[in-house]
Formats: sequence, C-alpha cells, structure tokens
Amino acid sequence: MSGKQHNSIVVRVAVPTPLRRAFDYSVATTQPITPGTRVRVPFGRGHHVGVVLASGVTPSIAPARIKPITEILDDQPLFDAATMALLHWTARYYHHPVGEVAQTMLPVSLRRAKALGATGNTAYALSNEGLAVDAATLSRAPRQARIYTKLLEAGATGLTRADLEARDPGCGGAIRALIQKGLVQKKSHEIAVLPPLPTAALPALNDAQQTAVDTIDAKHGQFGAFVLDGVTGSGKTEVYLALAERAINRGLQVLLLVPEIGLTPQIIARVRQRLTATLVLLHSGLADGARASAWLAAAKGSGQVVLGTRSAIFTPLPRPGLIIVDEEHDLSYKQQDGLRYSARDLALVRAKVAAVPVVLGSATPSLETLWNIRQGRFNALKLTARAGGASLPTVELIDIRTRLMDGHLSPALLDAMHTTLKAGQQVLLFVNRRGFAPALLCHECGEVCECSRCDAKLVVHRASQRLRCHHCGLERLLPKHCPHCDSAHLRPVGLGTERLEDELINHFPGTNLARIDRDTTRRRGQLEASLEEARRGCTKILIGTQMLAKGHHFPGVTLVAILDADSGLFSADFRASERLAQLIVQVAGRAGRTKRPGRVLIQTHQPHHPLLVALRAGTYADFAAAALTEREAAMLPPLNALGLIRAEAPKADLAMDFLTAAKAVAQAAASTVSILGPVPAPMERRQGRFRAQLLLQSNSRPVLQRLLTTCIDNIAALREARKVRWSLDVDPQDMS
Ligand code: ADP
Ligand code: ZN
Ligand code: ZN
Repeated sequence: MSGKQHNSIVVRVAVPTPLRRAFDYSVATTQPITPGTRVRVPFGRGHHVGVVLASGVTPSIAPARIKPITEILDDQPLFDAATMALLHWTARYYHHPVGEVAQTMLPVSLRRAKALGATGNTAYALSNEGLAVDAATLSRAPRQARIYTKLLEAGATGLTRADLEARDPGCGGAIRALIQKGLVQKKSHEIAVLPPLPTAALPALNDAQQTAVDTIDAKHGQFGAFVLDGVTGSGKTEVYLALAERAINRGLQVLLLVPEIGLTPQIIARVRQRLTATLVLLHSGLADGARASAWLAAAKGSGQVVLGTRSAIFTPLPRPGLIIVDEEHDLSYKQQDGLRYSARDLALVRAKVAAVPVVLGSATPSLETLWNIRQGRFNALKLTARAGGASLPTVELIDIRTRLMDGHLSPALLDAMHTTLKAGQQVLLFVNRRGFAPALLCHECGEVCECSRCDAKLVVHRASQRLRCHHCGLERLLPKHCPHCDSAHLRPVGLGTERLEDELINHFPGTNLARIDRDTTRRRGQLEASLEEARRGCTKILIGTQMLAKGHHFPGVTLVAILDADSGLFSADFRASERLAQLIVQVAGRAGRTKRPGRVLIQTHQPHHPLLVALRAGTYADFAAAALTEREAAMLPPLNALGLIRAEAPKADLAMDFLTAAKAVAQAAASTVSILGPVPAPMERRQGRFRAQLLLQSNSRPVLQRLLTTCIDNIAALREARKVRWSLDVDPQDMS
C-alpha cells in the first residue's frame, strides 16, 4: 500500500521559488505527464506556473499533504528531453533553485498561466485599407482608435495580441470590430520567422576557411568543440555561414549566438541573403509576445537558423545540427544576476547532449578557451590573414609623457588625422567612457563629486547639464558651486566621448562627425542609422565607446586611435589586462578592412607597459600566452576554479556576518578548497547597500563542485541569510 489512489499520480514540479527543491502534486489521471510540461499549481497563498520534472514519482511528503495541481497548461511538453537535461545540468552546476532555472529558461509570456493557443502569439497589423483611412473616422470608438494608433506606430510587423492586451487589457472586442471593418488584419502566427532574402553573391572560401569548414563538418552528427581563432576580418562569419548551410541541407537547425551589441542588421541581412533558410531572432529588444512566438517557432522546428543573444541558448531545438558562439570572449554571454550562467559554457553542454559540433569564434579568444585548447579539450582552427586581400593594421604607441597636448589630442594624432581626412578616408576614435568627463573636481578644496549611494564618482554630462552615476543611475543637476566649499571653480577631469566630440568640433570645423555611445543611441533605430551613415562614408570622424569596437565593418576607416588605454592598465581585477587587450585588438580591427592599409595609434603615458609593448610588437596570441603564464604562477582562473558568494545589505555588518557564517559552514565540510574572506567588495557601496564577498578557490573543479553541493543548502538555511541579499556566482567574471 503506497497510499496512492488508483485514479491519480504524483508529479514532481519545478516551481519558481528561492526554495532549493522541487515540489510534489497529485494529478487526477492515470496517464503519466511528460516532463517539460507546464502546470499551474497552488503555492503558498497563490498559484505558480511550474514545469513537470518527473511523473509517477513516490511522494516525498505524506500523501495526505499533497495538493492537486490546478491545471495542465500544455498538450505537448514545452521542454524536450534535451532541454530538460540542460535544465538539470544548469541547476546542478550553478547550484541554483531548479524552479528558478526553469523559469529563466522560459520566455516571459510563457511563465504566465496561459495555455499555448492563448499566449498571444497571433499578431495584428493594419490592412491596406487601414493604412489609407484617416484615424479621425474612429473618433467615436476611442478604444478602436487607440488600437489603430498603436498598430500604425508598429508598422508592418504589427503587434501581438499579448502586446495589445498589455497596453489595453480586454481589447479583444475592439480588435474584432477593427477586423470586421477591414482596417486590421490577422497576421500569420509566426511573425517571428523571417523568410530568406534574395541571395547575395558569395565569396569563394580561401584555403584556411575551407579547411576550417571541412574539419568541423567532418564531425557532423557528433560532439566536437572547435575554436575558430581568426584575426579581425579573416572571414569567420563566412565560415559560420558555410557550416550552417551544410547543416540546413541535412534538414537540421543551427543555433547562432552573438553578443548583446553584436546582433546588428548586418548580421541578420547576411544570414538571410546567404542561406536559403527561415530565420528566428531572439533578443531582449523583442516585445514579450513576439519573443514567445519566436521561441515557440524555434521549438517547433520552423526556424532553421536561430539567431540570438545570451538567453537564446535555452531555446529547445527539435533537430539541432550545429551551435556557434560568435565573439566567444564577450562578457555579455555571462548573466550577471539571478541565474549567473555563461551561455558560452552552456553551449558546450548543449552540444554534448545533442551530439553536435560547437564552434567558438573570436579574434581574441578568452584565456579559458585558450587553456581548453592547450588541455586538448577544444580543437583550434586558425585564420591568420584577412580575407579578400586586406592586410592587418600596424599598431603604434604615441608616448604622450611631457608632450604638449591640444586638449586630449597629441600633435602626432592630430597630424595623422589631418592626413587621413585629406585622403578622403575615415577616422575612428575610441574612448571607453560616455559623458563629458568621468569626474568633477573642485579646484579650490579638491573635493570630487561622488554618488551618495555608491562608492563611485559622478560623471559629468554637459549637454544635459547633469551629473550621473553610471552604477545606480542617480542624477543631479550639474552644480555651479562646490557642494563642500561653495567655490565656483569646478573642473571636469578626464575624458569622455562628449568632451572629445567638443574638442574635435573645434579642431575640424565643418567636418562631418558622429558620436556613437549609449547616450546618443537611446532612440530605437538611431544606432542603425548612425552605423549606416558611417559605412557609407558620410561620417568622416567617428567617436565611440565599446559599441563601436566589435563586429562592425566600416570600409573607409583607415585610422583608429585609442585615447585612454591607460585607464585599463592598473585595475585591481586580474582580468583587466585580458579585457583591455581584447578591446584594443577589437578596436584596432576596425582599421583598414578593405584594400587600403590601416593604422592604429594608442596614446599612452605608459609606452613601456608590457601589455602595450606586447600588443604593438606581436599579436593577441603572444599576449595571451604571457598572460596564461602569469595566471598559472598566481593560481588564478583558468588554472583553477572559483566560486564567489556575494552578500549585500543596508548595513555592512549584516553582509559580513552572513558571509562569516557561510564560511564556517564551508570550513566544516573539511574540503581542500581555499576559502578567502569575507572581505568588502571592490565597490563596497552600491545603490545604498553594503557589499561583501567570500571567495572559494580550488585547483579542481570537481572538488569545488562537491563542496558547493555539500554546503549550499545549509548556507541558504542560515539565520543570517534572511537579513541579506546573497548569491552564489560559479565561474565569476566580474568580481567588482
Ligand atoms: P570576421 O567575421 O572574421 O570579422 P567576415 O566574415 O565578416 O570576417 O569577413 C570580413 C570581410 O571579408 C567581409 O566583407 C567578407 O564578406 C569578406 N570575406 C570573407 N571571406 C572572404 C573570401 N573568402 N573572399 C573574399 N572576401 C571574403
Ligand atoms: Zn570645493
Ligand atoms: Zn550610484
């Protein structure tokens, strides 16, 4: 006698709650429910949407206490077996509550309790008649008029039912009325699936590209990890596309991940022109309904290519054939809150589960990836020359010590700019800081304006007359007098893009220049418009931050200068030099991408700094080899594994007390893992909260994992945990 009733079964459900376990419910059926199916369950005082992990289980609590589920939401499971395997792996490796992992893996609309047909993935758009009428004809039906206006703004892609409902709850009747009047039409269910565009002429692959394609393709149908280590402009994307074509010809799907700011109209157009395949886009810019439709389309197999940013790694694919991670070193692949996963690392897990090859591409592979190559876990394929006959740019350091500068521009740089512009070519100037200046200093008392909530200086934004904290978003009017001594002698110190723009307008009056950073590209479509102007050569001088560093192809740029390289040379973060080297190489990679050779100038007060010398004289590979040796000597990642427990609280003591208690729990496990701290975080105060951290370090990943498995539930159960916000970051990337 198990106590089980004959007409019901028990299912184990991943419910989104910080509690670190799954929950049992009964279902009045004798049919098992396939894992991956969503169910609505009572939880606490409310209801949650959970994902079934197992069906027909022996209950873990007294049968009398088992509650029935409220509703089965899907006829077919949303997660297939491979996605379930990924769910379990992710929860285990990141030691994150399984219900929260399942929720993170689902698009927002599907986290809600709606059966699939009603997720709102039906889209509506104005019909031709609708476009022709005057909105005034609807003045007597205000609700219809509102929807009409929304759809007019949305244009041809239209809006999904969910989008419309979100703005105007209960608008179904009004939509029906508009359809009856012939002003609005229902669009196909899968607006998320883009058809291919007319084919563009494709270049014949060069030998190195062909070898890469053949080597990787030889592994089709099996797991294999490949690194496509190709200098900027070496034709990595062409390799991805050729491989994708082969997978598609076999009837398989391709998952292509790109960094957050790498999902540009160019890559989308390139995929659509080169591949006779349907494309599904998945990124954070999509409205919830559109995103859910895209996700479902991919999961149903209708998208042959799935192109997306970090979270696209969780999209179920019924017929996976290939996974590609472009710019694998990019920090945006690591989620920095909640479930702190690395999409790059999960790509390997997925590829293994699905038995398909995975390709990690970069001109500047992460040290982790280079280490995996050395260990024989990944196969490296190199593209050492630029495709199409372009040569790599030369790199020169401009020693600006004691040099008389014109604002922030050295005479040598100004000279080079004049020459380049006279020859009708373009210049790109890089500063890794938006705003006018990174600090406002009082010349009389020496005080610097700081954020009241963070340990950070406020950044001067002159155009908007504001001081802003780039960490918490705090804003203040730009003061006219020092808040400490009331002096009027306030001085912006340091260089931001806005200031550089000012200086350049003075030096090159009448020259067409554009600043591209987060401040100038807030409006939708603005970034694309600016990039297009630059590509066509209209813009002569480009000023930009990180946004301009990656992936873009500006045929007319032959001179690139990095103005503030020094700021990255002395960071406390052991990864800072790797990041700076990647940034310099990527920025430099924008120069001379066509027939005309490119030139890179780096202004520095540290012309003998080993990092800069290495990058001038050699390649990224030389730098990386030296950096790996250093990491080895210091026993830092990738030579060992890290876990970081962070805590924050309104009072510093609370955070430290929790971490001290957590440390005691870890020490009791008597593992060989070293436990360092707790110490205040490098940025101790942020948004008014005190932050501290405890570092766990081991030369064996399994040993670290075992310790975490043993301790994490006990740490979560600590009394001190209730007074803080805490998290565990496995393989932390940003230690600030
Ligand atoms: P990456 O992804 O390595 O930066 P891309 O694939 O974008 O490089 O290629 C850089 C440029 O070279 C693009 O304009 C591309 O069309 C061109 N290209 C790539 N491969 C070839 C080739 N085999 N022959 C001629 N041009 C090529
Ligand atoms: Zn002062
Ligand atoms: Zn702040």
